Amino acid sequence: MDRIPVKKAESLKKKPLDSELSFGTIFTDHMFVMDYNNGGWQNPRIEPYQPLALDPSTMVLHYGQAIFEGIKAYRRSSGKIGIFRPKAYISRLNRSAERLCIPLVDEELFYEALIKLINLEKDWVPGSKETSLYIRPFIIATDPYLGVRPSNTHKFMIILSPVGAYYPEGFKPVKIYVTDKYVRAVRGGLGHVKTPGNYAASLMAAEEAKKAGYTQVLWLDGCERKYIEEVGTMNIFFVINDEVITPALEGSILGGITRESVLHATRNWGLKVSERPISIDEVYEASRKGTLQEIFGTGTAAVISPVSELKWNDKIIIPGDGRVGKISQRLYDYISGVQYGLLPDDFGWVTEL
Ligand code: PMP
Repeated sequence: MDRIPVKKAESLKKKPLDSELSFGTIFTDHMFVMDYNNGGWQNPRIEPYQPLALDPSTMVLHYGQAIFEGIKAYRRSSGKIGIFRPKAYISRLNRSAERLCIPLVDEELFYEALIKLINLEKDWVPGSKETSLYIRPFIIATDPYLGVRPSNTHKFMIILSPVGAYYPEGFKPVKIYVTDKYVRAVRGGLGHVKTPGNYAASLMAAEEAKKAGYTQVLWLDGCERKYIEEVGTMNIFFVINDEVITPALEGSILGGITRESVLHATRNWGLKVSERPISIDEVYEASRKGTLQEIFGTGTAAVISPVSELKWNDKIIIPGDGRVGKISQRLYDYISGVQYGLLPDDFGWVTEL
């Protein structure tokens, strides 16, 4: 018997034009669902996309015991569909599960569910340049109970959303606001996993940054408010004196899959690459001396986001000559080229359906 039965939607939605796509507003016709109860994950299935009915006392609504992932599938130049590094995201979900006292998911079953759902929804994968299908797996705690303890029941779901080009007119560098007023996470906390509370914790600083005319926040470490951590939904890299530098993973920042891909590619290209503590003072000093060549963010959404300015209290830090840096451009061209099947997949990153 098929271990992931499919119940098809009675009517299919009208698909949007690629030009109408933005981020995370449109969802496909079907979703994957699986329930945890009686000590095991049960009843994996694909169903029509539909609202959930939850008891108002459902634990996740009160105490935030939940985790998620963000993966992308692409329409490749051949017309086939490719998923970027699915197994890396799947194992990160399980690392998050462990930290949030959520029972681990069978990674083979998760992979099978992902492939089956995307195959069923393949007509939803947009084909225009730089569009993609965003994949959102998540798990929520579902006991109807108001005491604080790990839930005994959970729901695992995968939903899909076609998304538009991140850079319709080419790279658009972002301006980032450095906060030392708020912190996002501390070592020993939840910063290294994908759990909703981290994003709730980030909202206030993001609102303040927006008011000041900046699109994102760069977080400093929670103890000294000195060492650089990461951006809202991106890891951050600096190029100083031809050294590619990103903060090491020490428990308070997310180990991004794009970060890891960038480290792998730049090391392979023979660049000098360091994962090490880097303070905001070091970045500021490098900009004063003229050795700060590039700053860029890395994440699944935009792949590479060149940074044109950091605002740190009354100081403004501007890398390079104000144009997109060479390494930023090369990384974007390389990774997105591999994703869309325009360049050889040297490191076996893409699973083609
Ligand atoms: N940091 C945070 C806090 C994020 O939410 C993300 C997006 N997942 C990243 C970094 C980048 O990670 P990835 O490259 O895996 O998307």
